[in-house]
Amino acid sequence: MATTPEPDLNPGDEATPGTPGAGEDVCEACSGSGKLADGKQCPQCGGSGRVMRGIGGG
Ligand SMILES: [Zn+2]
Repeated sequence: MATTPEPDLNPGDEATPGTPGAGEDVCEACSGSGKLADGKQCPQCGGSGRVMRGIGGG
């Protein structure tokens, strides 16, 4: 088993980038702006405004 470093996932990510069946979606916590109402970086998407979601399946 190869040892690969864990991707830098954000709390809002449900799947790692490149995962088959997963797709990028707008972060619901910040509506895709990457920032919260108080101007702080969104913790769910890490400020990217997008999170990875698992599509189809558990
Ligand atoms: Zn966000």
